[in-house]
Amino acid sequence: MKLKGIFTLTKSLKEQEQMPVLFLGHGSPMNAIEENEFVTGFRNIGNEIPKPKAILVISAHWETRGTFVTAMDKLRTIHDFGGFPQALFDVQYPAPGSPELAGETKNIIKKTTVGLDVKWGLDHGAWSVLKHLYPKADVPVIQMSIDYTQDAQYHYDLAKETASLRKKGVLIIGSGNIVHNLAMLAWDKLNTDGYGFDWAIEANEKMKKIILADDHKSLINYKSQGKAFDLAIPSSEHYLPLIYILALKENNEKITIFNDKAVAGSLTMTSLKIDNA
Ligand code: ZN
Repeated sequence: MKLKGIFTLTKSLKEQEQMPVLFLGHGSPMNAIEENEFVTGFRNIGNEIPKPKAILVISAHWETRGTFVTAMDKLRTIHDFGGFPQALFDVQYPAPGSPELAGETKNIIKKTTVGLDVKWGLDHGAWSVLKHLYPKADVPVIQMSIDYTQDAQYHYDLAKETASLRKKGVLIIGSGNIVHNLAMLAWDKLNTDGYGFDWAIEANEKMKKIILADDHKSLINYKSQGKAFDLAIPSSEHYLPLIYILALKENNEKITIFNDKAVAGSLTMTSLKIDNA
């Protein structure tokens, strides 16, 4: 696949052709190989948005000191989990990388010096959802890491600096979960449709209300939102990809919520599409 020049080619894209941004609740890695309503939700989104020239993913599963982007031509499929069936370990997502997009991302971010990584690849936060959006793995992908030493405001400000990529045909995806407390997972309710603990439903509903009100300040200050939020966000890595995506929302853009359902008590799959459609 010849990628050279995609950015010069796409300079002619008109303003209204700006790519949407997505926050995808990825949930269990098993979503990569199961057939369920969430997978259908991912597929539908892949079909309804314009096909991107390249994809930038911020996944909950790549945390580093400092910010890095994958800068290789080829990305390995990382099976960063244990205790799952062999079929899941057999999954490969052979999308090409994009050193060009990595370089461009590094150049436009001024808040920090973005490092060019050649060791990572695609973790399951990325490939378990990309597999459904673009099953042919024919769109170049890079990942950007989450600097675990920084707070939500920092990530919000950093994300804003990537906005120009949207006009170059780049789809920016945040992959995490807005309610994600694995320690409290109700294993016996894994197959109970839509089962969420009271606090999980409360946090999910409150979160959606704040998101739809464009109240980004409250989302950045998520640690001051009460007990339900504390339980929903016991650590920040699955939540911060949401902050990246909301930072990119423009005033005239609309939020579409999908896959809005609880799983196994302490997890919600709630996902967002932001665009001006
Ligand atoms: Zn995860």
